[in-house]
Formats: sequence, structure tokens, C-alpha cells
Amino acid sequence: GQCASVCPTGAIVIRNCTQKFWDAIYDDSKRVVVQFAPAVRVALGDEFGLEPGTNVAGKIVGALRKMGVDEVYDTTMGADLTVMEESKEFVKKYKAGTKLPLFTSCCPAWVKYAEHTHPELVEQISTCKSPMQIFSAVIKEHFKQVQAVDGKETVVFAIMPCTAKKDEQVRPEFIYEDGSRDTDGVITTQEFASILKQAGIVFEDIDPEAADMPFGITSGAGVIFGVTGGVAEAVIRRVVDDKSNNMLHNIAYTGVRGMDGIKEASIPYGEGRVKIAVVNGLANAEKLIEQIEIGEAEYDFVEVMACPGGCIAGAGQPFTRREGKEERAKGLYDADKLSQVKRSEENPVMMALYGGILKNKIHELLHVDYSKREENVK
Ligand code: SF4
Repeated sequence: GQCASVCPTGAIVIRNCTQKFWDAIYDDSKRVVVQFAPAVRVALGDEFGLEPGTNVAGKIVGALRKMGVDEVYDTTMGADLTVMEESKEFVKKYKAGTKLPLFTSCCPAWVKYAEHTHPELVEQISTCKSPMQIFSAVIKEHFKQVQAVDGKETVVFAIMPCTAKKDEQVRPEFIYEDGSRDTDGVITTQEFASILKQAGIVFEDIDPEAADMPFGITSGAGVIFGVTGGVAEAVIRRVVDDKSNNMLHNIAYTGVRGMDGIKEASIPYGEGRVKIAVVNGLANAEKLIEQIEIGEAEYDFVEVMACPGGCIAGAGQPFTRREGKEERAKGLYDADKLSQVKRSEENPVMMALYGGILKNKIHELLHVDYSKREENVK
């Protein structure tokens, strides 16, 4: 089960699954799989005295392998799947004239906020699971056949920038009849730094390694999910017809990037234009919703990230000020520049998945309908 540690002031209970993680590693009947989010790679280094924004993705993989983790994957692959599904959903709704904007669903703090404060908007939230949940579901499905052969139960841990992901992971939508879950435990970046220290790992000296196949290839569009505007930019890359490098460059300057509270972009699509807003921080969500409701603003697609700056500045990350956020953002944009694959649909893993285990399972593994659960709105 989920272990809990109580905060010394007694004010909050923080689920900490560090023990569960170690128990799984020492349990031979378990296959331990770890995925780590885009934003984690540019923040973890702070805990080990590295330059702010240093990308330590390869070191994370190397360290997890040293600790005895069986399979290590990059949540960016899950983000690519989210882009595929969210873009499909958006285009379908846009063409059908369904009520817009479509709001993004990858930030669980935003989903929860909407459920409590704006239940009327919940049906406009994308039905895509978050990258973490999508990826865990796909990993579990993938290892089902292997499990039938080697008898090992697959447990998935996710290293996340975020404390809200701990609540997301135990939402009733993601716990199934047999008691199984998509994600078995969420470890924040800060908790992971403690785990590394506990294990006596000299992180600075770890040699970088690549994530495991068959999910080891990721796109630049997926990696920028970790910074405000990244989800919108990734979706734009997917939906525009013009796939030239020039267009790729132009998209970056449409207005989706940067640390402003509410950003706007407009992109050509079909005969018309798609209007996009990027909300950076929950306080700004309230402002934007008000503008929409009084008819002062109209959008087709809205990205909302609860943390100012996006996941790079999540509550589970080492604390940073404005400058540090910019370094982390730069770290992710640099990772995008270095990616051979810029768009989610060009990731060869997508083709393999859609032609393979996702056949007939797209809805079951990749989607969730938050509007169906009234008991969440308490
Ligand atoms: Fe979590 Fe913040 Fe990212 Fe939302 S924006 S998913 S709350 S880290």
C-alpha cells in the first residue's frame, strides 16, 4: 500500500513512497520500472551543485541503473502520446464546431482546481490522461506478456517535479477493479535527490546513459512540456500543415514562450486561424476564465499550468527564483534543439505503438473522462 509520512506541524500528510521504492528494488518478484518527467532533468542538478539548468537526463538513467532499477524511461515519450491524442481531440472538436476552448489536462492541480471552482468547464478539459498516467498505462500493457513468461509483477514509479502528481496517481479513475494502478508511486525531484544521497551515489561522477528501448526515443516537442507554453507549442507543431524548419522556428516566436502570466498566439489552420492562450500560474487561470465568461476573450485551445513557469518550478523541485527558472527553461529548449525528432508524430515509437499495443486500446489506455465523476467535486 501507499505509505504516508506526516508533516511535523501536523498540517498535511505527504505520501512518500521511498520505502516502497526500495522494497520493490530488493524484491525479486518485481520488475521495477522508473519514468522521469522532462522538468526533473534541468532541476535535479541544483541539489548536487551543478550549474542551474544543467540537463542531467543521462545521469538520472545511469544512477537508477546503478540502484538496480530494471527499466528506465523518459516521460517525454508519454508527452509525445499526449500530443498525438490531444491534437486529434482538438482537431475533431474544432472541425465539428464543439464548444471551445479545449483546455489541457496534463497538470493535475489545474484539473482539480477546475473541478472545485469551475465544474462547468470540466467537460471542456481534454480527455487525455497526463503524460505520466498515459505512459504508466502503456508500460503496464507492454509488460503484460513478459510478465506471463517471467512471472514478475511490473511496478512503475514516476519521478515528478510535482506534489499534485501524488494525488493524481491515487485518483479513483486510475485505480482498477483488481486494485492495480497505472502508476504505483510518485517520487518528487527533491525526494529523488534524498534517495540518491541515501544510496551513497556520487551523482556528479555518474556517467550518462540512454533510456531503455522500446520507449527510448523521444521528441523535442515532448521535452518542452516541462516549461510554460511547451504543451501548446508541441500541439501547434503537430497540427500545422507546414512542417518546414522555418515554420518550426516561427512557432517558437508566436508568443507561446516566455514567463508572462497569460500569453496568446494565433496560428494559421485550414482556411482560418486557431487562437491559443497559455496560462502560466493558477491565479492567471481565474483571470482568463473571467474574460472568457464575460465574452471579452475567445480561444480555441488553452494550456493551463498551475505553477508559475510550468513544471520546471513545480513544488517538488529544488526551490528556485526567477533566474533559475529561466536557466531551466533554457535547458529544456536546448534539449529540444538537440533532438533529432522535433515533432511527436515523427517519433518512430509512436508508429510502433499505434500499429501495435494501442490497436483497439487507445481509449482504455490513453483517455479518462473527469466530467463523469461527481464525487471528485467536493
Ligand atoms: Fe505539477 Fe506544477 Fe507541473 Fe502542474 S505545473 S503538473 S502542479 S509541477
